[in-house]
Amino acid sequence: MIGRQPVVGILGGGQLARMLVLAGSPLGVRFVVVDGSPEACAGQVAPLRVADWRDTESLSRFAAEVDVATFDFENVPAETATWLAKRVPVYPNPSALAVAQDRVSEKMAFRDIGLETPAFLPVASRVDLAFAVDAIGLPAILKTRRLGYDGKGQFRLRSPADVEPAWAALGGQASPHGLVLEAFVPFSRELSVVAVRGQGGEFRAWPLTRNWHHDGILALSLAPTDINPSLVETAIGRVRTLAERLDYVGVLALELFEADGRLLGNEMAPRVHNSGHWTIEGAVTSQFENHVRAVLGWPLGDTALRAPSLMFNWIGQLPEPRGAALALPGVHWHDYGKDPRPGRKVGHATVSASDASALAERASALASALGCQRQLNPALAAVMTAGAI
Ligand code: AMP
Repeated sequence: MIGRQPVVGILGGGQLARMLVLAGSPLGVRFVVVDGSPEACAGQVAPLRVADWRDTESLSRFAAEVDVATFDFENVPAETATWLAKRVPVYPNPSALAVAQDRVSEKMAFRDIGLETPAFLPVASRVDLAFAVDAIGLPAILKTRRLGYDGKGQFRLRSPADVEPAWAALGGQASPHGLVLEAFVPFSRELSVVAVRGQGGEFRAWPLTRNWHHDGILALSLAPTDINPSLVETAIGRVRTLAERLDYVGVLALELFEADGRLLGNEMAPRVHNSGHWTIEGAVTSQFENHVRAVLGWPLGDTALRAPSLMFNWIGQLPEPRGAALALPGVHWHDYGKDPRPGRKVGHATVSASDASALAERASALASALGCQRQLNPALAAVMTAGAI
């Protein structure tokens, strides 16, 4: 496809699609995005086709327009992905997508490659829940097997008194997809590996990222992070094996807990990931550019670190005044063009610097310029107090 302008189709038109378009455009790649909403923010940077995932007529027209299709959203129904794959190459393949859509099959895939997971049991009824609580113990987390994201569809059980409210909150969602009860992991750190596999099996990973969540939503990501090199090697090796087993093409992310010096797999994302946004400015090639290269069968770019970076997620609304942030050195601003709404990811900023102490200084300067030390990004206070940078 090198030689003419290839067209990549993206299912889902959120900020991930938007950043894929922004990264692929300099390579001469064109994009078409499908989303159920005419307001989808990727529609500001690429042609947007508004269609439901079951609307085969619109999806046929979309398939005819593109050379290859990929996802910004992993909850596209597996049947839609399979249907589309009969008409146009789809990366990652629909069966890899299906594994990542179900928390139970995802954890089984982790165990198959020798990656530990928190203890877990599938829950399909109130009786199953009582059994699982007995077997796993408390504290634990009850989660929907499917369609949960950003901490949605989760309930923490701290004591036996929480069993009933947990069932009342999520039991209605036990059917048809079911729930899973997971042991609560008293982790010391949350980490993620973002990696990419090309069509010929070429594999590259970005430096490990440390993540902080607030209310189940990613708040901050820091790269690189000081972690035992043998753990890094293990983590990256596991992702490589997983990608090979799934015959995966494109970027994938594995979220991990570090507890007692061991790594446990939490979940995988079959797409570019929020904890890899820092790679736009902080790495030689970003996750977005490498995903586009991979799905087109092009050589992958270098994933080496260019500068230590800290990414701040803006949740609900963009902090003001943005001018104060733009005036600071090393601050890169990303506005997704979305309307404000509680809990919604509306933008991010990445702060980069030549070394860790300059990074800490710049991150503090950004936090004070935006007055967000407490209100907008409480995780930052934790990062600073822990001296993590
Ligand atoms: P998830 O959607 O499963 O990634 O969960 C969102 C966040 O909730 C994670 O990033 C953790 O901060 C927390 N969390 C989820 N599962 C567990 C667990 N089993 N033990 C401890 N914390 C968890």
